[in-house]
Amino acid sequence: MTKIAFFGLGTMGGPMARVLRQAGFGLTGMDVSADIRNSFEDAIEPSEAVLAQADVIVTMLPEGKHVTQLHETLVHKSAKPGALLIDCSTIDVDTARDLAFKAEALGLAMIDAPVSGGPAGAAAGTLSFMVGGADDAFDRARPVLNAMGSKITHFGEPGTGQAAKASHNMICGITAMAVMEGFALADAMGLDLEKFYALCAGAAAQSWTLENRCPIPGVVPDAPASNNFDPGFAVRLMAKDLRLAQAAAATSGQPTPFGAEAAKAFSAFAEASGDRDFSAFYTTLRALPAQTQD
Ligand code: NAD
Repeated sequence: MTKIAFFGLGTMGGPMARVLRQAGFGLTGMDVSADIRNSFEDAIEPSEAVLAQADVIVTMLPEGKHVTQLHETLVHKSAKPGALLIDCSTIDVDTARDLAFKAEALGLAMIDAPVSGGPAGAAAGTLSFMVGGADDAFDRARPVLNAMGSKITHFGEPGTGQAAKASHNMICGITAMAVMEGFALADAMGLDLEKFYALCAGAAAQSWTLENRCPIPGVVPDAPASNNFDPGFAVRLMAKDLRLAQAAAATSGQPTPFGAEAAKAFSAFAEASGDRDFSAFYTTLRALPAQTQD
């Protein structure tokens, strides 16, 4: 039986680890937080002994600095020769690439495999994975990824999974601003917003964000706007992903002016309302002072 050491049992990692267990993997769940450990059956503190026995080491941690620290303090020292590292966290492209090359130099294999799909997709085993890494590492990772996801795309060399995630999430962030601003304008002009939603949903303005994050309470019953803007996808996570996209834009040299605006707007909004759903941005837009005409 393939032994998996799983680090990070939070919002996403907890349900992902459960799905792997249900699929029959011999999984040990580990987290630094006592509260989180209490929420996951048999979870333990990060353990060198467990890590040393694992065939596969999965990480689902907040940021690149957490993945780097875990690799430097535990994984590089204690992982068994040939072990496969699968990092599912959303981190910057440069760190993902760096860690993969270091792992390879130590006789380990590593893929970056960030996800889209949120906690519901994690619990249902229907996440989308964006993967970067060598072909043989990807082939070895397939059974683990297949258990957790329904759409798995291998983009190529190390870091390309994170590159795809940054680009994908920048589209989501810019689209979110467009949807919120469109509704703010329609509301300011007194339109019936239910009719406006129905129009957009069947016309060129249609998007995932429109259908799942319409910011008008009651128009889409399951949307966060209809539930006090509880996330969903928290503003602080949106801001983090947009900052990662800006880091990728800087490294690649590609100007992304709309992405930069979205990163700025959501970062400012996150300082006041980080734990609300990102669609709550609409309420901030509507509260801005009216423009004056020259
Ligand atoms: P989270 O904060 O809920 O969980 C992260 C967990 O990692 C925490 O429980 C924390 O205690 C633990 N942790 C930190 N350092 C650790 C270490 N050294 N060893 C073991 N455990 C450690 O975060 P999340 O929402 O589950 O997100 C995880 C990653 O997935 C992030 O990179 C996030 O951007 C990405 N992501 C999140 C979502 C979402 O909807 N929440 C969707 C897609 C991707």
